[in-house]
Amino acid sequence: MSDTPQHFIADIIADDLANQKHASVLTRFPPEPNGYLHIGHAKSICLNFGVAEQFGGRTNLRFDDTNPEKEDQEYIDAIREDVRWLGFEPVSECYASDYFDQLYAWAQDLIARDLAYVDELGAEQMRQYRGTLTEPGKPSPWRDRAAEESLVLFEEMKQGQHAEGSYIVRAKIDMAHPNINMRDPALYRIRRAHHARTGNTWNIYPTYDFAHGQSDALESITHSLCTLEFEDHRPLYEWFLAQLPVPSQPRQIEFSRLQLENTLTSKRKLLSLVTEGHVSGWDDPRMPTIRGLRRRGYTPESLRDFCQRIGVTKKANTIEMSLLETCLRSDLENRARRGFAVQDPLKVTITNWPAGEVLDIDAPWHQRVPELGSRTLRFDGTLYIDRADFEEIPPPKYFRLKPEGSVRLKYGFIVDFESMVKDADGHITELKVTYDPATRSGQDESGRKVKGTIQWAPSDAVASDLRLYDRLFTETNPKGEDLAAELNPDSLSIKHGLVEPALAAVPVGEIVQFERVAYFRKDENSAEKPVFNRAVTLKDGWAK
Ligand code: ATP
Ligand code: MG
Ligand code: MG
Repeated sequence: MSDTPQHFIADIIADDLANQKHASVLTRFPPEPNGYLHIGHAKSICLNFGVAEQFGGRTNLRFDDTNPEKEDQEYIDAIREDVRWLGFEPVSECYASDYFDQLYAWAQDLIARDLAYVDELGAEQMRQYRGTLTEPGKPSPWRDRAAEESLVLFEEMKQGQHAEGSYIVRAKIDMAHPNINMRDPALYRIRRAHHARTGNTWNIYPTYDFAHGQSDALESITHSLCTLEFEDHRPLYEWFLAQLPVPSQPRQIEFSRLQLENTLTSKRKLLSLVTEGHVSGWDDPRMPTIRGLRRRGYTPESLRDFCQRIGVTKKANTIEMSLLETCLRSDLENRARRGFAVQDPLKVTITNWPAGEVLDIDAPWHQRVPELGSRTLRFDGTLYIDRADFEEIPPPKYFRLKPEGSVRLKYGFIVDFESMVKDADGHITELKVTYDPATRSGQDESGRKVKGTIQWAPSDAVASDLRLYDRLFTETNPKGEDLAAELNPDSLSIKHGLVEPALAAVPVGEIVQFERVAYFRKDENSAEKPVFNRAVTLKDGWAK
């Protein structure tokens, strides 16, 4: 298969299968339900599901729900939906919280074997005792607490008898270890918070480090793929798997995070865009969330293609937004219907059109894809063109309509300029033209040639809001801290355009091309009048 992903992780898995280390592959995608998925998660989803599929394996969707304060059922539901929308079906849906009993028992086991203890250092003291990269840490005064005593305290923590921050369970590894993550890392902390799934059952919650690898092992995950920031945690991941009687031995492999220019890929920072009102919500079409991209007009196919094209490596790099746009254009090229709309309507009257006559023009939805069918365009002597397609004082090589000029109305006729109507301010309100009856498209025997062909909106076109979206951030690599300085003030502008009736009537969610303009998706919010979101321009038009 030529489109089979080739990357170092696929190579590792191929070797593991060849060497019979594993008989089959099981990966997992492990989001924390503390926000909506974004384009970075799409990379992880495509990798986890893609590489498993490549080797005939399966993938779990695991909610890493160990931080109750920040997590919510709303996020769980959205994540579940977004993964499927992207085109992937998990073999099972799991929750780290399903393993709370087992994890608790394993922590007790570590304490009983003198491999963990209950500490009383506060957060700040713990930081001080931990040492630095160049200095070893020093042991907590409670490090040698008797196991029996730690077990009692741990049980009391669980029963809710102690305040948050008063006690913490730590592994007993090595306070002088060169890797700071190995200097007695935390296993359990007290949190008096309501959990989306376990409610108020628990007063203590495992840390990411204590939960993640053991969850992988409990699910018999073979390859646990995560981003590079966990590379330094791998020795700890392996330490737990070595110490505990886990049912399987998963392997952690790290790859680099996706970073995309002119946007952010951090749930926390995206949340602040929402809460501070810079966008209308998680699904604002400017957001790099799966929801936002979907509402903007991105297709699952285009996002999967993007993830395939960026590849999987250990090198940090930032991808240009234009690659994402290229993937969408190439997906829509031969499957989006194409019709007529004008963003900034200018009325045109054909002075020699026979009064009362109506011509129904049958026009294909896509000239190169006849299977897409056709629609009818009304041609009756009144129509609208885009103001940008007429210049009173045209620059050189201007091939659209101009005084004394001619242009072809696509699927219609050649029209010749006659005069213009202006209001008291000198603003052009209407053009008058004549049409050449011998030049009807498809039946033209006039021999006339004009250099410009433009789209137009018929007299029965539908007033529609066209939302033009641009980069959310002007900053190429925004930090998401000084939003006022980094945000693009022109990321949204709304045009009151005219859309031909058949195009205005497409179902919500359909993505169409407005010929010569851009690809647009019909928005959910179209009850009063059609609203279209610009998904992507026809060419890469971002001026840097
Ligand atoms: P965020 O900072 O956005 O909260 P996270 O890594 O904490 O990111 P998780 O919900 O834990 O978010 O992510 C689920 C999975 O997706 C993890 O395996 C994580 O490594 C991966 N992931 C998250 N962001 C990216 C990204 N930008 N590129 C690739 N993978 C990512
Ligand atoms: Mg995480
Ligand atoms: Mg996070």
